[in-house]
This record gives sequence, structure tokens and C-alpha cells, in this order.
Amino acid sequence: SKYTKNDIISMIEENNVRFIRLQFTDIFGTLKNVAITTSQIEKALDNKCMFDGSSIEGFVRIEESDMYLRPDFDSFVIFPWHTQHGRVARLICDIYTPDGNPFEGDPRYVLKRALKEAADMGYTFNVGPECEFFLFNTDEFGHPTTITHDTAGYFDLGPSDLGESARRDICLNLEEMGFEIEASHHEVAIAQHEIDFKYSEALSAADNILTFKMVVKSCADSHGLCATFMPKPVYGRDGSGMHTNMSLFKNGENVFYDPKSESGLSQIAYHFIAGIMKHIKGMCALTNPLVNSYKRLVPGYEAPCNIAWTLSNRSALIRVPATRGLGTRVELRNPDSACNPYLELAVLLAAGLDGIKNNLTPPDAVTTNIYDIDEQERKAAGIDALPSDLKNAIDEMKADPFIREVLGDHVFNKYVEAKEKEWYEYSTTVTQWELDQYLNKF
Ligand code: GLN
Ligand code: MG
Ligand code: MG
Ligand code: MG
Repeated sequence: SKYTKNDIISMIEENNVRFIRLQFTDIFGTLKNVAITTSQIEKALDNKCMFDGSSIEGFVRIEESDMYLRPDFDSFVIFPWHTQHGRVARLICDIYTPDGNPFEGDPRYVLKRALKEAADMGYTFNVGPECEFFLFNTDEFGHPTTITHDTAGYFDLGPSDLGESARRDICLNLEEMGFEIEASHHEVAIAQHEIDFKYSEALSAADNILTFKMVVKSCADSHGLCATFMPKPVYGRDGSGMHTNMSLFKNGENVFYDPKSESGLSQIAYHFIAGIMKHIKGMCALTNPLVNSYKRLVPGYEAPCNIAWTLSNRSALIRVPATRGLGTRVELRNPDSACNPYLELAVLLAAGLDGIKNNLTPPDAVTTNIYDIDEQERKAAGIDALPSDLKNAIDEMKADPFIREVLGDHVFNKYVEAKEKEWYEYSTTVTQWELDQYLNKF
């Protein structure tokens, strides 16, 4: 690994670090942390820090609540901002039970298990996410709104509005934390932005997604704005996705690339695409986890709603960007940033490997804009639709035994239980829309 225990201790001393956040996530991908002072760092690095897991969503019952944090040394980062009381660093942790085994409810462990399978086949899984988000104004109490003074669109430049300077600040902070920012631009909708960082091996990509969201939120806050990764914050405007670019490497070579095939794609790439398409319905409750996620997946906003793949068109679920060679990759376009990236990447990888192991073949690539085809044409062409809402997605997740296998019983059961509750609450809530439509009329 990159750092030893002593490296970390000297970096802490040299940089006046006073607090260390020991971070992990619950099954929904919410970042949690136990903060310690520098005096406890040796204990933490020796895996002796404990916490009570019973109050974390999706973890354990009260009777078995002691959990140990095992810091991943390579995740050590000092936050670029200075506080009144010295600086703050973080370590991302794996969670272990008192008897020394990885905790099966730890999403990072779920991903590590899937990565192990890929490694056994000789593969490294590389992932580059494209996170989109909105920057909105806050109200007089500092609460988030959907109001903005931004009037820009795709790739527009400022009048240097607050959004643009917040975005610059985000990029600079991320770079100080070791991110390589490849692109940063205004997105299609007003107040919508995208920042892309360089692809990396999947475990660090998932860690990076969580760090990224935290930095975006905190920078926005210091500019008096609120950042949201909510998939569809405003009706009638574009939603925010998290396109997930994926490739498999073997001995430093991208195995999705084949210079001899007409498309430049290897058989392995086709199998991988087929595996994703086979399991996509069952994976949607993970890649698109919220009631609100499904309000983004509708025609007309460059978000997919049908299960098809293409070499170009942006209405499809899977697109293969034109780059070949080392940059050959498969872009999955349905995921949104509300997902738990560890669970997302675990199921995507496992689905792709399932395609490879079983030599699955994808249907022909579509070449037309599939927003333009109607229901009948879609069915005639044998193109299936993505789940239409969270309820549908949970049912599909339960109907594909493969998902339970990848997540393990613990995570699968807790996840389904929580999402069913979320759906029940939503579907029995009387909304403003209903009042506007019905109250007076009936
Ligand atoms: N915002 C679109 C989505 O919901 C994507 C737009 C784009 O990146 N071209 O996926
Ligand atoms: Mg993009
Ligand atoms: Mg985009
Ligand atoms: Mg994209």
C-alpha cells in the first residue's frame, strides 16, 4: 500500500492535523463518521476503534452492535480547508465484527467481494463517473430551495455568477485532495453543473464519489448556495444523472478493445454489455434508489427509459463512446448520484462478469433515437423498458436471484425492507399535485 502507519503519523504531525474523521457508509451510501483527536490515531491505525452500529441504518440489532473500524491507510487525505482548531484529515474504514470478520452489512465489503471475483479472473475494474448536480439558492434561514439566479445552459460561460465561482472552488479543493479533474462544465438545465474526475479502479472510484459529493456540498455551502444530487429536483427540466463509464483491464491492457474487430470492441465487451442488459431491471433499485429517481427516467431529457445500447445515440441505456485503445469503455446512463456507489459498482461488475462467464450476446445496437418510437414499435423491436417506478424496481430486484447473491442476504433484506417502506410512505402521501387537481373539482 501507498502509506505505512508511520507515514500517516508523520503527515499528521507535519500538517498540524488535530482531528481525524473515520468514515464509512450505511447501506444507502450515506457518509457516516466517528471523529477522533490526534491522540487516538495510533489506536485507530491498530484497528482498535469501536463504534455502536445499532443506530446506523441497515446495520445490526442492538444485541450485536459493537463494530470495529479498520482504516484503509491509502485513503488518508488531509482536507484542504483550515479550521480554527487546526486541520482535519479522514480515513475511509472497513467495518469488522468483534470476532475479526468483515461485517456483511458493510457496503464496501460487498464491493470488495465482487472485485475479488474479477481479480480471480485476472481483471481490474476501472470506473469513471460523471456526476451532475444543481446549485440552488438557500432561503433566509439557510434552508435549500429550488430557486436560482442562474440563466446559463450547456457549456455556457459566465457572467461570473455564484455558480461558476462555486464550481471553480470545488475543482480546486478536489485537486488539492488528489483528484484529477478532467472536465467541469455547466449542464443543460439552468443551475445544473457537471464535474468529471479521472477514472480509477472501482473501490477508489466509489470512495471518490462519496468524497466528491461531500466536497461539492460543503463548497456550495460556503458560497451561500445549496448543492443537490437529487435526481429530478424540478419538473419539466433535466434531471441529474451519474453516467458510469466502465472498462476491464488485464495486465495493463483494456480488454474491451479489439483493433481487429470492425467496431473496435472485443467479444468480452459485447458479453459485458449483454450481462448488464440481462440484469439491469433487477439492479435499478440500486442504481436509481429513490422514488424521485424514476421521474428522471422519462423521454425527452437525455436520460434513458428503454433497455437498448448504441454506439452513439444519447437516448439509449448504454452508449459506447467513440474512444478506442486504452480509453475504450461502456457508458451506462441510467444511474444517478443518489445511489450507494459501492453497491452500484458491485452489481454492475457482477452482471458484466455474468455476461462474460456465460458468453451472452447483446441484441443489435440501435441506431435511431428511441424516444421517437412508440410503445408498439418498441415492443415489436423487442426492446424492453426500464422499471417505471421504485415499486416496480423493488419487485424486479426481488425477482432476480442474482442480486441477492451479489449483495448477500443481510444487505439485500435490509435494503428491500427500507425501500418498501419508502414506497409505502410515498404512495400513501397526499401530494400538492393531487390537491391542485382534485380538491376543488370533486
Ligand atoms: N442530465 C442528463 C441525465 O439525466 C444527461 C445529460 C448529458 O450528460 N448529456 O442523464
Ligand atoms: Mg458528461
Ligand atoms: Mg452530463
Ligand atoms: Mg456521459
